[in-house]
Amino acid sequence: MMGPSHALSGAAVWLAGSWAADHFWGFHQRPAALAVGAAVCAGAALLPDLDMSGKVTANRGGATVARAFGIFTLFLAEVVEKLCLFMYHATKMKKDPHRRNGHRTFTHTLPFVALVGWGTTWLCVRYGKPAVIAILFVMMGLALRGLFDRWAERSGWLAVTAASAVAAYAAYLTLPGERSYPELGFAVAVGCLTHLLGDLITSAGIPILWPLPLGRRTWRMIGLPKAVAVRAGGPVEVVVLRGAMLIVTGLAALALLAPAAAQRWLPNL
Ligand SMILES: [Zn+2]
Repeated sequence: MMGPSHALSGAAVWLAGSWAADHFWGFHQRPAALAVGAAVCAGAALLPDLDMSGKVTANRGGATVARAFGIFTLFLAEVVEKLCLFMYHATKMKKDPHRRNGHRTFTHTLPFVALVGWGTTWLCVRYGKPAVIAILFVMMGLALRGLFDRWAERSGWLAVTAASAVAAYAAYLTLPGERSYPELGFAVAVGCLTHLLGDLITSAGIPILWPLPLGRRTWRMIGLPKAVAVRAGGPVEVVVLRGAMLIVTGLAALALLAPAAAQRWLPNL
């Protein structure tokens, strides 16, 4: 799937999950917390593609996430891609093919999801406010890039950076009190996991179960058969899937923020 679809899927999953938590378990969140959670999850849903590098010197190419903060993230993507390729060759088994590019390797596995989620939680608990603001800044930048793709492309990465700084600080101010927000780690992990699910329905697949050896391969690619797989950027992704995600996002937001109105429109909820 492409960046904007990944970001939208992150927001949809977070809001639908928040609605379910509220509806079935009485776990209520304030509107500011909901908005921040959805934005962090949407931003994190782009993170695994940080293994897709572009042209650093020309400030071009790479995945949506690699272009989020201009040459800085493009450079980071270059490093991540090389590290992933190194990890691939260091842990591959006999039947795993030779690769020249690290895309869709380590950052597309369950251990990566756990690592990023745990790392974010650890940073929040260990360093408190400065870490929370920094994480929000990065995630807001990614969310803006993913959700408002055309605007971001037109305005350039400096505008995206400035907007994410404002959004991150505003988010921090609207969240209550002196807290470290370890739950940010959960939102980041859910976002990354949503990305992996989005890539699972493509035919190329991802090695989600690494390092489990399956048929003498540690990097077994798991995806859908070509006949039913979703083609990246094709009409099924852009029209059907994105349409469905928009509806889920809208309905969940309505049910969470204006339950009385939602009751009138959807009496069965
Ligand atoms: Zn991906």
